[in-house]
Amino acid sequence: MNIILLGPPGAGKGTQAQRLVERLGMRQLSTGDMLRAAVKAGTPVGLKAKAVMEAGELVSDEIVSALISDELAAMGDSTGAIFDGYPRTEAQAVSLDGILEQHGRKLDHVIELGVDEDALVERITGRYTCAKCGKGYHDKFERPAKEGVCDKCGSTEFKRRPDDNEETVRTRMAEYRAKTAPILPFYEQRGIVSRVDGMAEMDAVTAAIEAILKG
Ligand code: ADP
Ligand code: ADP
Ligand code: ZN
Repeated sequence: MNIILLGPPGAGKGTQAQRLVERLGMRQLSTGDMLRAAVKAGTPVGLKAKAVMEAGELVSDEIVSALISDELAAMGDSTGAIFDGYPRTEAQAVSLDGILEQHGRKLDHVIELGVDEDALVERITGRYTCAKCGKGYHDKFERPAKEGVCDKCGSTEFKRRPDDNEETVRTRMAEYRAKTAPILPFYEQRGIVSRVDGMAEMDAVTAAIEAILKG
């Protein structure tokens, strides 16, 4: 099973991908996470991507498609892939078709998380993650059971993304509208797009996605 989670920044792609990984043993392929790791490690890709990400603009199609291709090559054939934050342009969607074919995989579902734009800024500005295991949290919508302690790994260190501020979020939303939303028809033609209400409670969103995957 190979699926794409599509939606604007803050729609819940990462949150839902983490849950599917835990419940279904699939693997999350997040180009955002891969790029942040590259920036942190100071690799050539990271050096190129840093300023672009800080501005909320899109990194080049070649860079992100190469990251995805490498990650899939390193993965076992039987593990399902959840593409989170990729593809984001039509060129990336075309590349993904080629990459999947190379690995004998096919795309089963494109799941669009629909969210009100007004809600996205609040979601993004309240977002943080565990510095050790990467589990996602929110100041208001998903607090750890014990304040200041990660539910999953017990770490007491958390981090916030430098691009999770209101100004950058506006740019990222504009990029989504201009370049990413237009790839939906590309997949609609194939009849593999499903829409889920991303404004619902997190558990309800997970249940809706699992229902789609079970067909
Ligand atoms: P994306 O990966 O699409 O950018 P995230 O999954 O990181 O979005 O979610 C953004 C923030 O909103 C996170 O802090 C997360 O805890 C919170 N969030 C995710 N889904 C929901 C939801 N259904 N209701 C309320 N808050 C949510
Ligand atoms: P979000 O979860 O809020 O949608 P991501 O973590 O997916 O954000 O992406 C963070 C930033 O990394 C983007 O604003 C962009 O600069 C870059 N990025 C991530 N994925 C891609 C991609 N597929 N194509 C181009 N740029 C990307
Ligand atoms: Zn943790």
